[in-house]
Amino acid sequence: MKYLPIRNYINGQFVEVSTGNTLDVISPVDGVHLSTVPLSTATDLDVAVQAAKAAYPAWSRTTIKERVQVFFRYKALLEKNVKELALLVQEENGKTYEEAVAEIEKGAELAEFACSLPQLIPGEVLEVSKGVECRTEHVPLGVVASIVPFNFPSMVPNWTIPNAIALGNCMIIKSSEKVPLSVGRLAELLQEAGLPAGVFNIVHGDSEVVNAICDHPDIEAVSFVGSTKIAKLVYQRATSNFKRCLALGGAKNHLIVLPDAIPGMTAQNITASMAGCAGQRCMAASAMVAVGPVDHIIEKLCEEAQKVVPGKNLGAVINRISKERIERYITEAESQGAKVLVDGRNPTVEGKENGTYVGPTVIDYVRPDMAIAKEEIFGPVISIMRTNTVDEALAIENANPYGNAASVFTQNGGLARYVMDKASAGMVGVNVGVPVPREPFSFGGWNESRFGVGDITGKSSIEFWTKLRKTTTKWNPESGINWMS
Ligand code: NAD
Repeated sequence: MKYLPIRNYINGQFVEVSTGNTLDVISPVDGVHLSTVPLSTATDLDVAVQAAKAAYPAWSRTTIKERVQVFFRYKALLEKNVKELALLVQEENGKTYEEAVAEIEKGAELAEFACSLPQLIPGEVLEVSKGVECRTEHVPLGVVASIVPFNFPSMVPNWTIPNAIALGNCMIIKSSEKVPLSVGRLAELLQEAGLPAGVFNIVHGDSEVVNAICDHPDIEAVSFVGSTKIAKLVYQRATSNFKRCLALGGAKNHLIVLPDAIPGMTAQNITASMAGCAGQRCMAASAMVAVGPVDHIIEKLCEEAQKVVPGKNLGAVINRISKERIERYITEAESQGAKVLVDGRNPTVEGKENGTYVGPTVIDYVRPDMAIAKEEIFGPVISIMRTNTVDEALAIENANPYGNAASVFTQNGGLARYVMDKASAGMVGVNVGVPVPREPFSFGGWNESRFGVGDITGKSSIEFWTKLRKTTTKWNPESGINWMS
């Protein structure tokens, strides 16, 4: 085992959990046994909640201008330690080193946004009648929780940690049991940045501790990022316990390609979108809807896809179960008449025979009723569906229950605008393979890609992590008695 067994992080200390139950953490890169992750229980969670509750009065009373000083230092620490943090992400998640570096840099950008919160949250004040003032202020909620997935071990935790904590909350994070190492390093960096003990805590585990989070009476809000199936469970359970909940789910992102699209640029963008992070991004292109005669673009796409080499510029998928599931989708589509143009099944990766790799895969003549066209694949696979008109393409996109991202590739501004208006996705793009908004724009999909109101990052997160206090004051004795007095 490469690292010591992982422990929870509570009140500024790494601590054992109450049971000895653990899971193995295996690197997808080469199958190396990295560590074990403990399976926390409701009792372990309660220890973390009590620590967070104890830290809350002092932390929430600190001014936001003081609180964000921690995140100025945290951002600098992420940047200073980028190599080491990226290597850890690569090791536990399987993505390439360059992708892992981008993930850490994105975390720094998220911390930077939190540093701007004092400029964004001053409340409003107005003299509403003579001598009477109303004002609003954003007040933290208390103890909040964040449940995260495996695909961005460092960035997705950083979607919630800086904003929730800078806004005055104390947080408990439930890491993904598949990638529990990075978040422990983030805890150390937060401590080094001066965050007081108890403000940030980690409980590791699986569904048992997630359920306990949804049920705990002292947790005010739950944010969740993961698959749609679990997002629904968490949203239902947390809200049935009267908690605020924002649950981001899975995705099936469509790229609509028109014949006038610039071939080279379009092919490169589609390849980068479907194969980046081995297709394990909720923003990854999964379906290409080819409108009319676009064979010349598909040819280029195949050329580009073949430049993506597992173990070199393409990372591993998270585990063997995932690899086998992705390859099953390809085989099933092929048996139903789809044509595999670039086949990524069972690639040989020299020296990494125990890694879990799937090569880039391009499949043409996929029909909308096939499972590969309808379901989230979460691998480096693009399914091409053919249509004659933009409206048919939009009908395919609209019929999908998810709604994270959609893009159109064209030189025709009017048609691009038409697709942007009609696509049923929270994040739309024109000539962009991954239409992910960068800070300060907020991130979040629609439909079955998001349950709850608002977005998880950016300004929208202010509403989620705070409640609004409305104060009315009348200090001037000469002020008249208005209709409300
Ligand atoms: P997942 O849903 O399996 O797990 C997410 C979290 O839920 C983990 O912490 C896990 O421990 C917990 N969990 C798993 N099963 C549970 C259960 N039965 N009850 C309660 N909790 C449970 O997701 P994953 O495989 O870790 O991540 C990949 C998924 O996340 C993909 O669907 C991807 O699209 C999605 N994702 C979405 C976004 C977004 O912004 N919409 C971002 C990143 C990832």
